[in-house]
Amino acid sequence: MTRTSDSRRNHSPLKLLFDFIVVGTLVGFVLYAVNEWRAIERDTEAELQFLNRLVTQTTDEIFNNYQTVLHILGDRLVETGAVSHRELARPLIDGLVELNPALAGFILAKPDGQLVLVSGIDCETVLPNLLHEPKTSASFLETLETGRLTVGRTYFLPLLDSWVMPIRLAIGGDTDAPELVIAAEVDITSPATIWNDIAPPGKMEVRILRPDGYWQFVEPLAENMEAATYDNPVEASRFERITEQTRLQGDSQGAAYTMDEWFCVSTHLKRWGLYVTAILPLAEIAASYRARMAIPTAFFLTFLVASIVFYQLSMRQQRSYESRLIRQAHHDPLTDLPNRALAMDRLRVAIDVTRRENRVAAVAFLDLDHFKRINDSLGHLTGDALLTQCASRLKSVLRAGDTVARLGGDEFLIVLSRIRNAASAENVAHKIHAVFQEPFVFGKGEVKVTCSIGIALYPMDGEAPGGLLKAADIALYDAKDAGRNTHSFYSSEMNLAVHRRMELESALRHAIANGELRLVFQPQVLLNSGEWTGCEALVRWHNPRLGDVSPAEFINVAEETGQIEEIGGFVIDQACAALAEIRATGFEEFSMAVNISAVQLRLTDLPSQIHRCLTHNDLPSNLLEIEITEKTMVESAIQLDSLHALRLPIAVDDFGTGFSSLSYLQRFPVSTLKIDRSFVRNIESDPQEAVLARAIVLLGQAMNLDVVAEGIETPGQIARLKEMNCRRGQGFHYSHPLALGELLARLRQRRQDSRRAN
Ligand code: C2E
Ligand code: MG
Ligand code: MG
Repeated sequence: MTRTSDSRRNHSPLKLLFDFIVVGTLVGFVLYAVNEWRAIERDTEAELQFLNRLVTQTTDEIFNNYQTVLHILGDRLVETGAVSHRELARPLIDGLVELNPALAGFILAKPDGQLVLVSGIDCETVLPNLLHEPKTSASFLETLETGRLTVGRTYFLPLLDSWVMPIRLAIGGDTDAPELVIAAEVDITSPATIWNDIAPPGKMEVRILRPDGYWQFVEPLAENMEAATYDNPVEASRFERITEQTRLQGDSQGAAYTMDEWFCVSTHLKRWGLYVTAILPLAEIAASYRARMAIPTAFFLTFLVASIVFYQLSMRQQRSYESRLIRQAHHDPLTDLPNRALAMDRLRVAIDVTRRENRVAAVAFLDLDHFKRINDSLGHLTGDALLTQCASRLKSVLRAGDTVARLGGDEFLIVLSRIRNAASAENVAHKIHAVFQEPFVFGKGEVKVTCSIGIALYPMDGEAPGGLLKAADIALYDAKDAGRNTHSFYSSEMNLAVHRRMELESALRHAIANGELRLVFQPQVLLNSGEWTGCEALVRWHNPRLGDVSPAEFINVAEETGQIEEIGGFVIDQACAALAEIRATGFEEFSMAVNISAVQLRLTDLPSQIHRCLTHNDLPSNLLEIEITEKTMVESAIQLDSLHALRLPIAVDDFGTGFSSLSYLQRFPVSTLKIDRSFVRNIESDPQEAVLARAIVLLGQAMNLDVVAEGIETPGQIARLKEMNCRRGQGFHYSHPLALGELLARLRQRRQDSRRAN
């Protein structure tokens, strides 16, 4: 069961929707994130391309510019013969330095490398030969060879105390025989250097690489990093990568690539042999990516968390709804006890556990006594409240492992597992009876209720749940039969009784329709004269299969199954019809006594039913006597009043065997007492019983009631009853109960006999 509900839950529409939303959002977010990364890469590359182009063009222009300036200066120097007269050259050079503050110093050198003039240094100072210096010799030679401006390695010039970039140009003559090499030092740290106007935005950097593998210019550069940067060659692998990549550059675009932890755009400025590279640390791109993604990520996570929370809440709601449904399916809504289905499940488990542990289990059916009466008289709401209170009292008696279930109506099932023996079950039964001792309270009123319990034991009375339940049910029947408010353990003999009862029940259902019921009439006699003054109608049932069944047996069954309503109606109809016939034969004062059972009396329409019958058969009401037992009299006081209103005489049957509540006799409209057969039987031999019979007669006389002795079988009994002044009697001595035809025949015969005697 759990597995199916789990799998159903896993495929619930809510779960599918949730999965769809989460997966959809996740995919959407990943696509968005990738797209954003691409966009940021694109933007970064565009910015680097722009910076790279700007630096490349600027560099080109700077060197073009210097080439022009040096040409003009060189030509002037040659023209003025300043090469041989150094003092003529100095004002020209100083003037130029003033115009170009970035040009940190000027040098004039002969084509053999010998310096002839250095701005700012005395003419007398002995000057070095550039071809003898390793840092300058290569570029000096290159200057002589190319005939255009050449750029030397950036180096530190102690004379100027500055990092400079040497630029040189051979002047005069043709390229094979220049007259003069003019060189200037561009102070790369000077604010006047145009490069320094290009401030790379953010964390971008500009690097210009020389073809010999040294940095020409790096911007920005951390303080005091010049020596480390310019005096050492670039790592070979980096040099390779930069020069390699620039081969892939487009006409208008630099080559974009990543190198180590940088994103780079490089161009080869072929005219000057330089590689211009704009770079940005990848970490920087990642940082701006993170900044760009922060809000969308926060949104996404919020949405995801909200979805999960919403889903969890919905699932919890659904689960609690499901568990409520499951609970409802297995519990009785009124008492919240397990219902029949769950009880059967528990019983099976209890049997399993008990079998494994080699112990005993008990199954008990519990039924409230006369619950229907409470329901009918106090209403269904009170009935429901009573059941609820019963449920909690039952629970209070049981252990945690035991089960009490409501099977419907006022029927409860109790399962006691792993008990030691029958005594343990009996103990529980006693406890249950004990908790029912306390009255049940409803608002201001209270009511006492008892219960009957039928108990069957596993494994003695059955090994399967079905058999055990049947046995417990049979035991319950027995407890009810035993007068209720008690408990019975199942025994195999009960089985026969219950079987018989079930047979009676089902056969009785069709008895009237099949014409199996009929009435017989036992005459009632005046003891003194022997005159037949009336009769008692007694019902007879002959069933083809069961044979003759005594009313003492089947009336009980009919009462409990409700069939008494129909049977009682049949008896009244038949008795009235018979009385009408007897009167029609000329016995106008002859009376008819009819037995009415307690259940029948409670039927609200009994008075009107009797009234209808009397009217229909044109009978005076004083001739139809109603026989009720003492118990019925006590329990059905209200209905008796309505019967009396019809002026029907009322006889108390079997008087002396029941409650004999004398106050009731006084309070209720009783006209006759019938001394029970048991007092008459031994009236001659047992003085005690004779005393009781006499007491009843005296009571009747004192209360002005007629007294009828039942079960007279011998003349001796008649003699004793006459002595006691008992007025009327009935019994086999006078006559067995007779069919109507026989009764009429006997009545006629007696009339003839008496006429003859007179
Ligand atoms: P009851 O009303 O006390 O009826 C008298 C019973 O005693 C009858 O038994 C009758 O046959 C029996 N009886 C009469 N004289 C003698 C005698 O001298 N010796 C012995 N041993 N028995 C005698 P029955 O007909 O078997 O009825 C038994 C009980 O069944 C009745 O007791 C009455 O309570 C009930 N009953 C019978 N017919 C009806 C009926 O139509 N309606 C209802 N509600 N109950 C009925
Ligand atoms: Mg009777
Ligand atoms: Mg009787």
